[in-house]
Amino acid sequence: MSTPSLAERDWSGGVVRYPDPAVEVLDDSFSKYRIGNAVVERLFTGCRWAEGPVWFGDARCLIWSDIPNNRMLRWNEESQEVSVYRNPSHHSNGNTRDRQGRLVSCEHTGRRVSRTEHDGSITVLMDSFEGKSLNSPNDVVVHSDGSVWFTDPGYGIMLNYEGKVAEAELPNRVYRLDPESGAATIVADDFLRPNGLCFSPGEDLLYIVDTGRSHDPDGPSHIRVFDVTADNLLENGRVFVDMNPGMADGIRCDVDGNLWAAAGWAGPGFDGAHCYAPDGTLIGQIHLPEICANLCFGGAEKNRLFMAGSQSLYAVYVETAGAQHP
Ligand code: MG
Repeated sequence: MSTPSLAERDWSGGVVRYPDPAVEVLDDSFSKYRIGNAVVERLFTGCRWAEGPVWFGDARCLIWSDIPNNRMLRWNEESQEVSVYRNPSHHSNGNTRDRQGRLVSCEHTGRRVSRTEHDGSITVLMDSFEGKSLNSPNDVVVHSDGSVWFTDPGYGIMLNYEGKVAEAELPNRVYRLDPESGAATIVADDFLRPNGLCFSPGEDLLYIVDTGRSHDPDGPSHIRVFDVTADNLLENGRVFVDMNPGMADGIRCDVDGNLWAAAGWAGPGFDGAHCYAPDGTLIGQIHLPEICANLCFGGAEKNRLFMAGSQSLYAVYVETAGAQHP
């Protein structure tokens, strides 16, 4: 039997030579986060618009939204299998967990924020403000004091594809909800389309994405950062990073205060996950072959970055950890 030459060797089959060129260091400060022998993995494909990844370490699974398919999916860390977690999902979008570990979801249909109790029943936390329906909550984060902060940009009432077409009754805003009392306050009302949001590790800062350019060519495409006061007010808002020529969507901080942003709508070289230092410098990128809409850290060490990327779910290990509970 003859031995084929090296040139004839078929290396195809989905493997990647390390280091993965999809993990790009743009600044030396990112080098310590890149793991040389870690590869960007596609864990699943078959969604229409993947969103809202949230890690359940206790169940060793990741749950995420597939908005147009009106379902939530669950990826099992042990078996690597994907199954349906909830269908219909009320066109759920962003997800997180509260301090008791309960799933908190933004839902386009019903225009509400819901909480899934430990027994599986669903509690509507908020679907209106001063007697008017919310537009369609998009993304959500829970503060360590238990309050639920969410954005309400109205994407879910613009197309039947991702919800149900309806008239907006309220301006696009960011709200803070005390789920104990049911009291809600407006924390920001000067966004065109407020989208992803997350706190800094010390919760002294809140980052909020504006995707106003999605339906207004002159609208903003940036991430703003605010100081969070002891009274839960936002002050000193300033642009943290301009996302043009693309847009950001979901965002998360790591323990070092870097901001990881799902990025897309500008094609190869841009789409994927962007890592910004606390001063706003783009220090690294995870390149994906699809638009990334949202991301979260997971795994036992919270060192695995899960990325909801259009039709697929991706993940890569990085040498840092997610800052936020869960
Ligand atoms: Mg979003």
